[in-house]
Amino acid sequence: MKPMSRKCEQFTDSVIRRMTRISLQYNAINLAQGFPDFDPPKELLDRLAEVSYQGPHQYPITMGAPNFRQALARKAGRFMGLSLDPETNMVITIGSTEAMVDTIFALTNPGDKIAMFSPYFENYRAQAIMADCEPVFIPLVPPTFDFDPNVIEDAFKTGVKAILICNPSNPSGKVFTYDELKTIADLCIKYDVYAIMDEVYEHIVYAPHKHTYMSTLPGMWERTVSCSSLSKTYSITGWRLGYAIAAQPLMDRIKQFHDFNAVGAASPLMEAAVVGLDMPDSYYEEFGAHYAHMKKIFTDGLTSLGIPFTDPQGAYFVLADIGPFMKPGQKDVDFCVEMTQKVGVACVPGSSFFNEDINNIVRVHFAKKDETLYEALNRLSDLKSKMA
Ligand code: GLN
Repeated sequence: MKPMSRKCEQFTDSVIRRMTRISLQYNAINLAQGFPDFDPPKELLDRLAEVSYQGPHQYPITMGAPNFRQALARKAGRFMGLSLDPETNMVITIGSTEAMVDTIFALTNPGDKIAMFSPYFENYRAQAIMADCEPVFIPLVPPTFDFDPNVIEDAFKTGVKAILICNPSNPSGKVFTYDELKTIADLCIKYDVYAIMDEVYEHIVYAPHKHTYMSTLPGMWERTVSCSSLSKTYSITGWRLGYAIAAQPLMDRIKQFHDFNAVGAASPLMEAAVVGLDMPDSYYEEFGAHYAHMKKIFTDGLTSLGIPFTDPQGAYFVLADIGPFMKPGQKDVDFCVEMTQKVGVACVPGSSFFNEDINNIVRVHFAKKDETLYEALNRLSDLKSKMA
C-alpha cells in the first residue's frame, strides 16, 4: 500500500497523556497530566444538572453559543482590559488545543517557521508539524528561565511567521514580565511576526508575579491571538471548552478552520459554563489562593525530602531534578515508568518538553487535594532506595 503521512514519523503520542494511562495501569497518583482531583465549583455542577434536562443537546452555533460568547466577552474583557465583541473577536473551541491548531492553520503556510521557547508544552511541536511548519526553538535557560533577545532576533531574521508563547508557562512556571513581553512584542512588530499566546494558566500566578496579556501591549492587538480555556480556571479539563480571542481580520480566518475542524464545542457544556464566566472577582482571588496553598504544601514537602526543584511563578508544575535518584545510564522516560510502578507516583519525563538534550528533569504537578499531595509526598520519601 502507499505510504501514509510522513508527518506521523516526526512525533509520537503525547508522553503526558501516555503517563496518565501508565498511572492508571499501576493505580498510581497521577502528578503527570495536569488536572485537579477536586470538584469544579458547585455553581457549575448545579447548572449542569439543570441543563441535562433543559438542553441544549443538539449542535451548537458553530462559533460558540451566543450567551457563552457574551459572558466570555464580559469576563475576558474585564481581565484583559479590552472591549471585546462577542461576534467578531472570539471563537469557542474544543479546548485551547483546538484554538491553537485553528490559529496555526489560519496564520501559516506550509514551510513557515514557528518560534517557540524550550522547554515547551509538547502539543506545540506536533501542532506545528501537523501544519507543515518548522518549529524553531529559543532556550529558556533554567533555573530562572531567562531568554536572550538576540536569539529571538536571530530567529526572526530567518523569516519566522509566528512566535508561540505559553504564559504563565507550562512546564517552567515562568511568568513573563511586562518588560520581557515588550521586548518580544517590539521584535514581533519589527520583523512582522504574529504572537500566538497560550494563556490557559492566566489565573494561576503566585505573588508578587502578575499576568500580562500580550494582546494589550502597544501595537500587539492586531497581531496577537490569545488562546485560553475554562479547563484550569474552573477545574473542568474534561469539558474541553477553549477559545481564541483576536482582532477580526485574524479571527475571521481562525473561524474558517474551526468550522471544519470542530463544527462546534459541546452545547450543553457551554450552557452550563456560563455561570462560571459570570463569577465575581472574589472567585479568582480564592482560586489563586487555593493554588498558592497547594504549591506551598508540595514545594515545602519536596524541600524536606531533599528533592531539588525550580519554584514556579505561575501555573501548577514544578521541574524536579531526578539526577540524584537515577541509575547510571537510565533514561528519564524509563525512570518515570519505573517510579510509577515502584513508588506509585506518576510524573512526566523532561525530555518531552526540552529541545535540548536533557535527561535529569521531571515535571510534577500539584493541582490536587491536600490529602493527595501529602500521600504523594509520603510515597516520594526515600526515593533513592525505592528506585535502587
Ligand atoms: N496542560 C496539561 C498538562 O500539561 C494537560 C495536557 C493535556 O493533555 N492536554 O499536563
